[in-house]
Amino acid sequence: MTADVLVVGASVGGLTTVETLRSRGFRGTVRVVGAETHLPYDRPPLSKKVLSGAWGEERVRLRDRRELDRLDAEFLLGCRAVRLDAEAHAVVLEDGRTLDYGRLVLATGLTPRTLPGTGALRGAWVLRTLEDSAGLRAQLLAARDVAVIGAGVLGCEVAATAREMGLNVTLIDPNPAPMWRQTGAAVGRELSGLHAERGVRLLMDTRVNGLLDDHGWVTGVRVGGGGTVPADAVVMTIGSVPTTDWLVGSGLVLDDGIVCDERGRASAGVHAVGDVARWSDGRTGVGPRLENRANAVQQGVFVAGDITGGQDAYWSVPYFWTDQYDVRIQVFGALPEDADVRLIEGTVESRKFVMLAEKDGRAVGVVGWNSAKAVMAAKNAYLG
Ligand SMILES: Cc1cc2nc3c(=O)[nH]c(=O)nc-3n(C[C@H](O)[C@H](O)[C@H](O)COP(=O)(O)OP(=O)(O)OC[C@H]3O[C@@H](n4cnc5c(N)ncnc54)[C@H](O)[C@@H]3O)c2cc1C
Repeated sequence: MTADVLVVGASVGGLTTVETLRSRGFRGTVRVVGAETHLPYDRPPLSKKVLSGAWGEERVRLRDRRELDRLDAEFLLGCRAVRLDAEAHAVVLEDGRTLDYGRLVLATGLTPRTLPGTGALRGAWVLRTLEDSAGLRAQLLAARDVAVIGAGVLGCEVAATAREMGLNVTLIDPNPAPMWRQTGAAVGRELSGLHAERGVRLLMDTRVNGLLDDHGWVTGVRVGGGGTVPADAVVMTIGSVPTTDWLVGSGLVLDDGIVCDERGRASAGVHAVGDVARWSDGRTGVGPRLENRANAVQQGVFVAGDITGGQDAYWSVPYFWTDQYDVRIQVFGALPEDADVRLIEGTVESRKFVMLAEKDGRAVGVVGWNSAKAVMAAKNAYLG
């Protein structure tokens, strides 16, 4: 049977698309294919409350079975799509089945990068799925020293959680400060202070040359300059790649994600949303791919609107948050390295403040630390 809408990827982007289709009155047949066997779940807690043990796995479920049933959509979970024939409007699954569609929504997210040669190494982790989080947690409970490679948002969260679990944590990154690429120097300075104060050993401006192992078990990290960092668990948070391998040869344009126009259309009848999608921003051409939850939701809502008709042009201010220790950091817009960043509210000493980033005299981003209301007000005032 042909589905009027086929969604590949049963996580927040795909689920939001389906829910919005139904809330907008779409009556056609909907089918969702997801490689994971779980009901759709939320990833942000995997590096925070699930990793720390504060939440059990059931807390991250986005909807329960009854709520999914009410969507009147067929969920094929534990099924991986392996090929798209865009001309024939058909997706082939790993088990050989072919699913025909009227419209296709691609929401396949990301696959974490690993260091070369670490695939079979025990004690070396990435963190993307519930299984990753549960496995890493079990190992952290038995470990003493953990090295986190990559001090982006995810690496900082893992470092904070592991430190709160009582481990000796070393955070390693080639940039001068944590979250350097996401929030630049001024916020990086504060993050360095936060992690150092909580007892994380920061090795910034430091490259990793490889992992050390003993009979297949990780024992440490080899860093630039010839040093080593002992570790009985290593977490590689060194970025991810869009999960598009199965789309090679499909005719879609793949360039650090599925390239889409400003309405999320990748080709006739094919849309892409969330971490895997790279939408045009409508002014400067293809924009950057965004890897955050809010973006996956907003694009899912928009694409469902596009499919059901009558949707305005897409516009949104990029947003992400991160929780580290008792600090919630919220970022709207962008804080490029070369922006001028100044404090506009609160004090850095109190760890309750808002900073504004400007470039060429124009506001481009705001960041708040433990200042939910103030950062939202600043976003509205400066970024629209
Ligand atoms: C540990 C962690 C912590 C995070 N914390 C934050 C945070 O604090 N704040 C924030 O804003 N964002 C955070 N994020 C990012 C946020 O979770 C993502 O932006 C969001 O999950 C993107 O949703 P998505 O639906 O695009 O993709 P995903 O959630 O990655 O889902 C993609 C789904 O597609 C499936 N899939 C892939 N290929 C196929 C295939 N061929 N066939 C079928 N199914 C397939 C995958 O198995 C997966 O289930 C975090 C992410 C992680 C991993």
